[in-house]
Amino acid sequence: MRRFRSIVLLIILTGATSPIFPQSPAHGIKNVFWQPNELQQGSVAFITVELDRVPRRVTGKWIGKDLAFFKSDNPKIWYALAGADLETQPGTYDLTLTAVMIGGRVIHKRVDIGAANFRSGAVDVPENFVEPDAASKKQIAADEVLKNRAFSHLIAAPQWSGDFVTPVKAKPTDSFGMTRLFNEELTSTHRGTDFPVNEGAPVVVSNSGTVVLAKELFYEGNCVIVDHGQRFFTIYMHLSKLEVKPGNKLGKGERLGLSGQTGRVTGPHLHMGVRWNGAYLDPTKLLGLTLPNLGSEKRKAATRARPSSAIGGGANESSRKPD
Ligand SMILES: [Zn+2]
Repeated sequence: MRRFRSIVLLIILTGATSPIFPQSPAHGIKNVFWQPNELQQGSVAFITVELDRVPRRVTGKWIGKDLAFFKSDNPKIWYALAGADLETQPGTYDLTLTAVMIGGRVIHKRVDIGAANFRSGAVDVPENFVEPDAASKKQIAADEVLKNRAFSHLIAAPQWSGDFVTPVKAKPTDSFGMTRLFNEELTSTHRGTDFPVNEGAPVVVSNSGTVVLAKELFYEGNCVIVDHGQRFFTIYMHLSKLEVKPGNKLGKGERLGLSGQTGRVTGPHLHMGVRWNGAYLDPTKLLGLTLPNLGSEKRKAATRARPSSAIGGGANESSRKPD
């Protein structure tokens, strides 16, 4: 019976695109790089691993989360779409990668997460969105259950292909990670990006995926959550009209509804959220990535979905009362 051996090597590099082992070619993993080169709190990270042999699979762990690698058309090149939660403390984090093969090895690479310059501001909304009454609290709790269920949906292979596209015809505002003070009494972190659009503008899905929630929620208003596979989701909020249902498979750029001002808003806009493996990521960083087109066989292989208990839930907004 064959045995898998692992050797642990600790490599510290500063350049994101430099080869890890320029002097030692026979180690399994040849090169690791990611985009964007400079990562910050909330950054999406598209990780590429190049190997010198074809592995059975590639696994990885970063900032306490498992990475889901998938094979490219070249079986010696593997990809993972991941990110650093906006609440990650700036610092250096170990990226642990394992190429599962005969003589495959574990490598560690250090990844710096820089501090992001999140803004802050004050917002006024109807008081029930700040001090919800009993009926609203009940709805908020029920919404949590639905969102947790949606985010526990698991599709084993990526559904997306190529770049993620802007969901509305508008420039995003610099609003991700913003600390907002609602009605001078409630502090909340903004876990997405707002696009300024009037009510009734078409909203399209940023990449191919499966709808896992399409419903009116208390804070989010009419909300659509799309699963792009491997625990990567995009979220669209405050819509005036929902045009999709859970289970619908959408192609990139397909319409999912119309923009609006439902839920906790000060006016019409589209809120886009990005969630990977429980982490909230900056949508503008996702829209800025250059991503490979993935073969249709991969998407066909990804149709089997099953619930997973490994994913934590959580509201879109984390709120706390000031003391
Ligand atoms: Zn928003």
